[in-house]
Order: sequence, then structure tokens, then C-alpha cells
Amino acid sequence: MGEIEEQAGWGFETLAIHAGQPADPSTGAVVTPISLSTTFAQSEVGVHQGYEYSRSGNPTRTAVEQQVAALEHAKHGLAFASGLAAEDNILRLLQPGQRILLGNDAYGGTFRLISKVWTPLGLDWTAVDLSDLDAVAASWPDDVGMVWLETPTNPLLTCFDIEAIAEMAHERDALVVVDNTFATPYLQQPITLGADIVVHSATKYLGGHSDVVGGFVAVDDDELAERIRFTQNAAGAVPSPFDCYLVLRGVKTLGVRMDRHCENARAIVDLLSGHRAVERVLYPQLPDHPGHEAAAKQMRDYGGMVSFTLKAGEAAARRVAASTELFTLAESLGAVESLIEHPGAMTHASAAGSPLEVPDNLVRLSVGIEHAADLVADLEQALDTAP
Ligand SMILES: *Cc1c(COP(=O)(O)O)cnc(C)c1O
Repeated sequence: MGEIEEQAGWGFETLAIHAGQPADPSTGAVVTPISLSTTFAQSEVGVHQGYEYSRSGNPTRTAVEQQVAALEHAKHGLAFASGLAAEDNILRLLQPGQRILLGNDAYGGTFRLISKVWTPLGLDWTAVDLSDLDAVAASWPDDVGMVWLETPTNPLLTCFDIEAIAEMAHERDALVVVDNTFATPYLQQPITLGADIVVHSATKYLGGHSDVVGGFVAVDDDELAERIRFTQNAAGAVPSPFDCYLVLRGVKTLGVRMDRHCENARAIVDLLSGHRAVERVLYPQLPDHPGHEAAAKQMRDYGGMVSFTLKAGEAAARRVAASTELFTLAESLGAVESLIEHPGAMTHASAAGSPLEVPDNLVRLSVGIEHAADLVADLEQALDTAP
């Protein structure tokens, strides 16, 4: 990791292209090789060049771990087979009897992992409204070991003040985990705001091309990193070298992609704002958006995700989601192509009946980097199907 410290003076786009990616010393290859070898030669028993067995460590994985850690301003990066595998390894830091304070709008799979996998194993959780920190502090249970939040949240895009939450949690000896999947390190760097752990679904903006499932953890603290690295190896939910390569390659263009995602999202927000069929537009840049001030303070720009509700209810939301031609009706997000979905029946179906349930007239857009006017025209014709 020393290399990252030396490179700390570089700007974001430079780090994305060079951190962890020196030319290959054996061949001069400019592009990081995909190291498929599962095992590595030792010159004497226990003497090797840093790699023994690819579950424990792999050169392609090291490259992406150093690259994304540098972007998150973290000393340590750990790549996983999926975002949920990364989350699962973070939850292993807790002991049975400890509680997670979970922001009450979160990815459905995170809620399922905590409530259906870890609760039977002894962890507890409480869903809280992190926009009211006085209320959270006043009713703080004493068994809290971790505060887990997304900002912007999935799918309502609510934003929370990471710095204030970290301060509150640290006064009470709890770790702060920020799922930075929606913002990416280009827009927001939670470690610099006091978060202990950053987690990503690399499947989304980091990969950026809908062709790899991956997860990532960034931590600055050496001891926390060591504990997570232990379970990364001991539980073994590691990504393949090819998957590491795809994330590494995707991240090189993260900055330019995010700029275009944000620009296109603004064009979509302009269409939706004041449209006769639309009840409410959810986008962190809007001055009346929940958490707009926190977003303005801690984000470089407001991201490529846009959600909205329809006046005519669930049937209209489902019809609009099924009526676009350029926006593909599909789960997932964060890639070059635009996607549309109905969270209540799709990504967030597992939160039905829980405190994390989402409105049934909600539509979520992952605005891609196509030509903005084409996206606006496509959504406009789909909205015409709503009464
Ligand atoms: C997709 C997603 C996850 C889960 O990641 P996978 O790579 O699908 O396992 C976690 N958090 C957020 C915010 C997500 O969008």
C-alpha cells in the first residue's frame, strides 16, 4: 500500500489510471495482466514474491484493490465476489448480541442479508431515520456496534450528513459503514468525512458496463483492514482475476463517465419537473430534496440516479416502466446504458412489509451516458402512457 501514499498527490483521474497499475516489470506490458495462476512458485519454503495462492492474494486483484483504495482516500482496499459478499465480510466484524443501526432506506439485498442471514446468527438491527440525529441519539440502544447507511439512498436518493453521523457514532463507540455505490468515490469520499468503512457494489458504477458482478471494501484503519482481510481469505468470497480486470478497466474512466451521468440526469430531471403525470421528482440537486444540504456539502455533483412517483399510482408506474425503448426495463444500475425499473416489484420486493418498504408508484432511473436528447425523448413518450 506504500505506493498509494507516494501517489497521494495525484488527482482523481490520474489515480484511476495509474494507482496500483505500474507497467508489468517482467514484460513492460502497459495494461495490467490478468493473472490466472492459482499458485505461485517459492524459491525456498515460505520464500516467495508476495503471492502464494490466489484466494489469499492475486496480482490482478492487488491492482484493483490499490486503485479503488486510492480513489477512496483509504489505505486499504479489498475486492470481493459481489457487493453482498463485501457486506457480509463487514458484518463479520460484529459479535452476536450486537446491533446494527440501519438507515431506513437501503438496498433491499442489504436488508435481507442483515435480517434473514445475520439476525438468526445473533445480530440485531433497528431501522432509523438518519435525517433526525437528535432523535437517533436520544433513543440510542447500548448494544449498537455499527451504523450502516447509504447516501444517496436506494431508491429514494435521500442524503445524510456523513460527518455528523460519524461524530455521533464515534462518541458511542460504533463503527460507521457507508455504502458508496450510488455516489462513487468521484462524487463523495466517506473516509475523508469520518466513515470507518466504505463498501461498494462494484457491479454498478465502478464496473460501469453491466458485465461484471463485484464488491469492494475500503478502510483506512490498519487493524480493521487486517480483520477484514482475514475473513476475505478465510471465508473466501473473492473475485476472479478476470472480474478484477473488468473492474480495474471500468474504473479508469469513472470520472468522465460520472460527469456525463450527472449531466444527463439533469436533463431528465428538467423533463420530469412539472410534467403533468409526475407527482414528485427525487434528485439530490433539487433544493427541496430530503438531504439536499448534506449532498451539497459533501458531494462534487449529484449523480446519475433519478427517481419519481406518478400521480396515477402503481399501474401508471408499471406502464411507464414498460413503455420506454432506449431505457431498458431491468434491475441494476450505474452502467453506460440507461435502465428503468419499478423498485416495489423488482429491486426492493424483499423489503415489502418492512420499515424499508418503498412507494408502489415509484419509478427509478439509472441514467446512462447516451445522447441526452434521445433519453429525454424516450422518457417523454413513455410518460404519455400515464393518465
Ligand atoms: C447492487 C447493490 C448492492 C449489492 O451488490 P451486488 O454486487 O449486487 O451484490 C449493495 N448496495 C447497493 C446500494 C446496491 O445498489
